[in-house]
Amino acid sequence: MRVLIAEDDSTTRSMLAAVLKKEGYEPVEAVDGVQAWKELQKAEAPELVILDWMMPGMEGPEVLRLLRSQPSESPPYVLMLTSRKEKEEVIAGLKAGANDYLAKPFDSGELLARVQVGCRMLELQNELVKSREILAYQAAHDPLTGLLNHKAILDRLHNELQRARRHLEVLSVGMCDIDKFKAVNDIYGHQAGDDVLIELARILTGCCREYDSIGRLGGEEFLIIAPMRTDRGAASLFDRIRRSVAEARIMTRSGVLSVTVSIGVAAYAGGDTVDGFLSAADAALYRAKEEGRNRVVFSDRSL
Ligand code: GH3
Ligand code: MG
Ligand code: MG
Ligand code: MG
Repeated sequence: MRVLIAEDDSTTRSMLAAVLKKEGYEPVEAVDGVQAWKELQKAEAPELVILDWMMPGMEGPEVLRLLRSQPSESPPYVLMLTSRKEKEEVIAGLKAGANDYLAKPFDSGELLARVQVGCRMLELQNELVKSREILAYQAAHDPLTGLLNHKAILDRLHNELQRARRHLEVLSVGMCDIDKFKAVNDIYGHQAGDDVLIELARILTGCCREYDSIGRLGGEEFLIIAPMRTDRGAASLFDRIRRSVAEARIMTRSGVLSVTVSIGVAAYAGGDTVDGFLSAADAALYRAKEEGRNRVVFSDRSL
């Protein structure tokens, strides 16, 4: 682990570096508060900091105050090094945001023990950040297909609509539903049905570009948001999806099978709400089913 040593006294700095290096840490040295602050601003800044109190340019507590005023998910652990033993200064250091302090002259055994405590705190902090990220991912994704879930894709549509409105941009939305999917479950079993849903998500992802969004609205219904006009790119995108699904030989645990999809497409027509947009796509999807399935139908107001 990299440890920032901010200490203006070169003898103390070299000693700290030597003690830490011997224990397998990677010391990064700063000769004053200004340099320490610069190091802490870097993208790969050390997570653990040993910060001297008295330094020219910028004193330790000032560096700390700046550091703590920056909101961060994983703030560095700061061990304040001080020659002042008075209670008030210890309190001031901790109040400024230090996690711990050590009075000079220090004992190297105690220093290492306190650095280890810091490492354990950082490990816990990093685990917490990781589990928060996992929870946020789970809250926005469908566990079966890995696509955005109902709420997340509608949130995305809301944002895309606002963007289209603000920048007078174009937007197309396709509602895609597997044809006669109930029969797939009835004939091949629910698990084979799940395999089809997973493969369909893979096909959709393969057909779309990075700036398109795909979500599972629920059941065997998917929503594709593409920032393009229906009569240009979107028409070919949705037909490519329809064709790719129809041509796919899908491996399931009950053997290889094929499905088709019907897609209803609506284009942004100014002033749309999420609900208005969705009902236009839904009405087009209904027509696609009526007209025989395995087809793309555009909402009347699309072109
Ligand atoms: P249509 O062409 O009119 O869309 O017919 P359909 O059979 O696809 O439509 P319907 O709405 O009658 O049936 C949808 C089926 O999707 C019923 C349900 O069992 C199945 N389904 C919904 N969610 C899941 C799922 O997570 N896994 C599996 N295997 N099946 C699902
Ligand atoms: Mg000093
Ligand atoms: Mg269906
Ligand atoms: Mg359906």
